[in-house]
Amino acid sequence: MNTNMNKKAIIVGAGIGGLSTAIYLQLKGYKVSVFESNSQTGGRANVIKSNGFTFDTGPSLLNYPWVFEELFSSAGKNFYDYIKLIKVDPSISFLWQDGTQLSLSSDLHTLITQFEKIEPQSTPNLLKYLNDNYNKYKLSFDHLVGKNANTYFQWINGVSPFKLLSFGITHSFYHDLNKYFRSRYICEALGSYSMYLGGSPYELPGIFTILPYGELAYGLTLPKGGIYSLVNAIEKLAREVGVEIHVNKPVSKILVDDYKILGIELSTGEKIQSPIVISNVDVLTTYNYLLPPIISQKKLKKINSTKMTPSVLTFYWGVKGKISGLPHHTIFLPNDYRNAFKQLTKIGSIPDELPFYCSVPSATDAELAQDRNSVVFILIPLPLLSQMGIVDWKLESIQLKQKVLVRMKQHGIEIDKSRIIFEKVLTPEDWKNKFGLYDGSAFGASHTLFQMGPRRLKNYDSDIQGLFFTGASTTPGTGLPMTVISGKMTAERIEEYVH
Ligand SMILES: Cc1cc2nc3c(=O)[nH]c(=O)nc-3n(C[C@H](O)[C@H](O)[C@H](O)COP(=O)(O)OP(=O)(O)OC[C@H]3O[C@@H](n4cnc5c(N)ncnc54)[C@H](O)[C@@H]3O)c2cc1C
Repeated sequence: MNTNMNKKAIIVGAGIGGLSTAIYLQLKGYKVSVFESNSQTGGRANVIKSNGFTFDTGPSLLNYPWVFEELFSSAGKNFYDYIKLIKVDPSISFLWQDGTQLSLSSDLHTLITQFEKIEPQSTPNLLKYLNDNYNKYKLSFDHLVGKNANTYFQWINGVSPFKLLSFGITHSFYHDLNKYFRSRYICEALGSYSMYLGGSPYELPGIFTILPYGELAYGLTLPKGGIYSLVNAIEKLAREVGVEIHVNKPVSKILVDDYKILGIELSTGEKIQSPIVISNVDVLTTYNYLLPPIISQKKLKKINSTKMTPSVLTFYWGVKGKISGLPHHTIFLPNDYRNAFKQLTKIGSIPDELPFYCSVPSATDAELAQDRNSVVFILIPLPLLSQMGIVDWKLESIQLKQKVLVRMKQHGIEIDKSRIIFEKVLTPEDWKNKFGLYDGSAFGASHTLFQMGPRRLKNYDSDIQGLFFTGASTTPGTGLPMTVISGKMTAERIEEYVH
């Protein structure tokens, strides 16, 4: 394509996608500068430190460590010289309103015991699920997930049609789980991973049974000091390889002339030139708010029709003392699971029976809270902002908090309000405004069958020369490991473009 390109690139946003792209690109000989609007890097994976408590704002479940190992080893470094990972096992506990409880573990013996308790004689099917998904997982990561492909043919090249059918693309995630497990509790627990992918397990394709598999196989970890230690490690690596990082520098425009990238304009009016700009800001936000109005209405309409993952409301509670009955990760599921997903992803209303997630990282790393207190993070999935209309978030937060505390009490978990000595709330509006999340969508573009591989929002613009994307809404998708892979893919895409 363009053979005489100056090897300089600007990245808008220092989320995990932005920082990873910066590292991979700098290692390819580019001079990379990152401009971040907030005062800290990490984007959604941010940190709040207050009153002796350390809260991770977004991600709390860390898996697929091999992705991070690869990022560091590409720079000739050892990931574990930068970070200490503490194993979290049991990884997640699920609680239903009727009192049923299921804990997942990457220890096979413990897992079998748990599954047998819920579904007697499930062991052969559990082993078959693990075996089948080992193959599915390996095939996905070896051949599909990290591949820049423009067409389905390029994407599936090397994978036999027979193997593709075994992926479960013709039926739903829930249906695929149901082939192995009769218990609704096991299917609902493993199917709840679809929440992060932005769909209901009754609609998303069966290929995603690899998600719970990945967690069972690799287990969950917490970096010592919290998830933000991972951000610190990645930022440190970026600086070591020579990336320039500028914080408190909101970018107001991506500058384009005659469909060719010129650079960026900061909110101060300062213009910085670069023939390559990579936006780590959500793809839809970039098209709608950062680019000049040169995109055709037809193309913009198509981009804006992307199905997005739900929004979230998150609470950060500093709680006095220890909380009994609450392990590190717990998911509270409703009785009418199907209806809760329908309300969230289809109807667009706040579920009557609220599913929510609770993380107590101080149960694993006590240093996250002083004086033997507890750090509590609550994540409530909600519909997108445009679906909910006008909401009085102050009032809504009070009501949601009450629902969470009442539900916990039903399970014998008592958190009296007077014990909550620190509280911060991030509403879907806050998430949108602080990080540029389109329509408040917490995890970016959904992973429906038609938003995967070459059909997902691309990591480059086919009309504007020099414009690229990285992060959760583009390929391969959402979650910390995926955004690191996204960084690698975008850097590879840029290399293809330059040569
Ligand atoms: C509440 C929550 C919980 C989650 N839990 C998990 C989990 O447990 N495990 C997991 O793996 N993943 C989880 N995720 C998903 C994960 O956080 C994301 O997929 C990932 O962090 C996205 O990274 P990113 O680089 O794509 O985007 P972002 O983190 O959104 O980074 C984009 C960056 O761009 C900056 N920016 C925006 N506009 C501008 C501008 N105009 N100028 C300059 N900078 C700008 C933003 O401030 C931000 O720093 C969670 C997400 C949320 C919201």
